[in-house]
Amino acid sequence: MVEADSIDGIAGDQKASDAAQALKAILQTQYLRYLIIASWAIGLLGVVGGVEALVWFVGTLAAGALRGAVERRVSRRVDKGWGLVFPAVATITTTAWAVAPLLAWFSDNPFASTTAVALLIGGYVLVFAQLRSSPRQALVISSPYSAAALIMLGSLWGTPQFWSLLALVPFTAAGLFVLVMMTMLREGRIRVFQEHQAHLIEELETARDKAAAANEAKSSFLGVISHELRTPMNGVLGAAQLLGATRLEGTQREYLSIIRNSGDNLLSLLNDILDMTKIEAGKMTFETVDVSVDDLSKRITGPFEAQAAAKGLGFEQITEGDIPSVVRGDPLRVCQVLHNLLSNAVKFTDQGAVTFRTRGTRIAANRVRFDFLVTDTGSGISRADLELLFQPFTQVDASSTRRFGGTGLGLTIARRMSNIMGGDISVSSEVGRGSTFTMTVEAEVVEWAKPVPIETRVVERVEGQALSVLVVEDHPVNRMILEAWMGSAGHAASTAENGQIAVEIAQHQPFDLIIMDVNMPVMDGLTATRMIRGGQGVNRETPVVVLSASARSEDHQAGLDAGADAYLNKPIDFAALAELMTHVPGGREQVRQLGLAHEAVAA
Ligand code: ADP
Repeated sequence: MVEADSIDGIAGDQKASDAAQALKAILQTQYLRYLIIASWAIGLLGVVGGVEALVWFVGTLAAGALRGAVERRVSRRVDKGWGLVFPAVATITTTAWAVAPLLAWFSDNPFASTTAVALLIGGYVLVFAQLRSSPRQALVISSPYSAAALIMLGSLWGTPQFWSLLALVPFTAAGLFVLVMMTMLREGRIRVFQEHQAHLIEELETARDKAAAANEAKSSFLGVISHELRTPMNGVLGAAQLLGATRLEGTQREYLSIIRNSGDNLLSLLNDILDMTKIEAGKMTFETVDVSVDDLSKRITGPFEAQAAAKGLGFEQITEGDIPSVVRGDPLRVCQVLHNLLSNAVKFTDQGAVTFRTRGTRIAANRVRFDFLVTDTGSGISRADLELLFQPFTQVDASSTRRFGGTGLGLTIARRMSNIMGGDISVSSEVGRGSTFTMTVEAEVVEWAKPVPIETRVVERVEGQALSVLVVEDHPVNRMILEAWMGSAGHAASTAENGQIAVEIAQHQPFDLIIMDVNMPVMDGLTATRMIRGGQGVNRETPVVVLSASARSEDHQAGLDAGADAYLNKPIDFAALAELMTHVPGGREQVRQLGLAHEAVAA
């Protein structure tokens, strides 16, 4: 058996699985063993004395218990085949059983030989029935019965009954042979079927892996492409913004607004696709920071009051329930979700008002549940359409794409993000009356009471001052745009196309501000910032603003850690840049304060 295993691995595996299955069946039917011992003891009692039958019963019970214990141990490592322990112990316990036919055989009862033969044949059948898929094991384990049969035959040697008893051998053997053959045939069929199934499963798994790989490739392709498309879009939108600041004819201005609107739409589509691919790949990062609920509310509603007013809509903000002052969470993502809901509310409402309600419920000493309700008096959504609402690329009314743009990805992203934060979004709506979208999310409370406001230092801004700025950016279009903007705003810009050149220039030429891109060839912006801060040059204390292509807070933090004082997201928002320029004369401290404020707004 052991040799066979090493010669033929597959046959070995098969035998191991046969052994495992047989043992499992034996263990599952343990109680039958004791039933049969009891029935044999009764059979014995019929032909031998009570004492002998009892002694046999107790001895065999003990052997059976021992065998049960060994079988349980062997079954844990039966994957290597039967081994030697199981057949050895089984053979010893069968010896106890084989004593029963011998006891009957040598008793004086006239029915003794009949009982003895019946017990013997019964014993063989039991062993072969249990081990019918391993006939060799069955032969070994039933050898005590064979020994008993030989003893019985030997006692008849020279008498005519010898031949009568011997004549029972062929029909007993034939019966056992049929039992084994039928089992093997059936198991052969099962094996073929199982092999076929295993093959099918393997094919299915390969197909599934291929589909998953293709899906992953699609996601990463979409992710890379949308990321890469944002850089040229930055050029297009920046140039359009600059163009807007020049003298233009009416038609030109109209064409320009088409470029800017289309560009903005394309950019938000790219951002949505990027978010979607990140969510699908499980790579969307969430941070947990302490955030003031007041600030958060302002950040949520900030852009929409004006948008609603521009459409002639009312905008109401209501706060109710248990509202803590500081909670822990990801303000960036919460804002992203709620901005989506608020922007839809304003977009799909032509008259009436949009209400933003924050409801807080204290659920534990340091836990709060927020329900953010965005209610509008707009077109509403039909019951059938509500079902489709959170599926990607679904727009309830196809004409809304033509009227309002949009991708149908917003709500899908919003719900998935809420889910990742442990919350959800629900919606109730009535056609013609309006909708209410509710985002529910729980948060850890850092502080329930309102903190005493820290005295704010008012620093006077020096406006309109001409500043000298070093623009470090490898992309020629972006560099040109920034330089042109600085020129048009009355500032003097020097440029450098990588970090190393910037460090060299900054060594001797003093600047009021350094705008530093992060990803650049030769030397990246973070290294350059560190060298400027750590070196002996004249710009050690000059405010540095990093340009970040990603909205990820880790990237922003990396910039601040390198010694920068603020960051600007790409594509550059020139209004934010203009505001920044007014803070530059106040030095690093002022820029840093604005940078943090921006972080709040951008987030
Ligand atoms: P989109 O980018 O098209 O706005 P969303 O996933 O945010 O994508 O919204 C999907 C669709 O759900 C919208 O196109 C619109 O038809 C419908 N919808 C969303 N919010 C509202 C609302 N407040 N009122 C009416 N319809 C809405």
